[in-house]
Amino acid sequence: MKLIAANWKMNKTQREAEEYVSKFLPLVKDVTKTEILLCPPFTSLCKVSQMLEGSNVKLGAQNCHSEKKGAFTGEISTVMLKDLGVEYVIVGHSERRWIFGESDEIIHKKIVACLEEGLRPILCVGERWEDREAGMTFKVIETQIKLALSGLDAFVSKIDIAYEPVWAIGTGNPATPEDAQLVHRFIKDLVGPVRVLYGGSVNTSNAGDFLRMPDVDGLLVGTASLDPESFFQIIQASE
Ligand code: 13P
Repeated sequence: MKLIAANWKMNKTQREAEEYVSKFLPLVKDVTKTEILLCPPFTSLCKVSQMLEGSNVKLGAQNCHSEKKGAFTGEISTVMLKDLGVEYVIVGHSERRWIFGESDEIIHKKIVACLEEGLRPILCVGERWEDREAGMTFKVIETQIKLALSGLDAFVSKIDIAYEPVWAIGTGNPATPEDAQLVHRFIKDLVGPVRVLYGGSVNTSNAGDFLRMPDVDGLLVGTASLDPESFFQIIQASE
């Protein structure tokens, strides 16, 4: 089944999250052929979790720590996320890699922590513009995936991968569906059968073009997921 996921990033207070979900759930209630995921910030997870109970919408977190508990001020463990009803965790988003300095090694540890807790990681990978210009796109993707999934061959069916070219994120300048298709195919040839989502300036007009590609198995949507009507239209493109 295709997965259409909303990454709200650092947006929405608890009240705004509540308003969103109360508008969103009636819109998507008849969606049956698509898996729908909301990833609010940590501060709204509890509220959103309660509101999603018994619905056809799943809950994800945008990050986690790799240790289960202890002296890690400001961090949130996979145990805590599981306890809140979280099922998915976005791991290795480019904003984590490039703004917060997350290494491939840290990302690997976070994926292990998710799997140990029965949470489904969405591993994000993607090249920067300078990598693409240097003809390094496939090499960068290969390295990110090999390091993140090192020793985890047996668990690939429990992981989703999101291809998010850094230059396409929040820029209004998406990859072409054909370029995305090439990278998605490359990822599947590298790791075997895995669900690969595309992310980076997905909107209501281009969602269908991506989803028509044979190896685009879903979308990870930032800006256009912040409005319930727009996100619903993107989901409809997958139905
Ligand atoms: P935009 O949809 O705003 O480009 O963000 C994509 C993204 O980073 C999703 O994780």
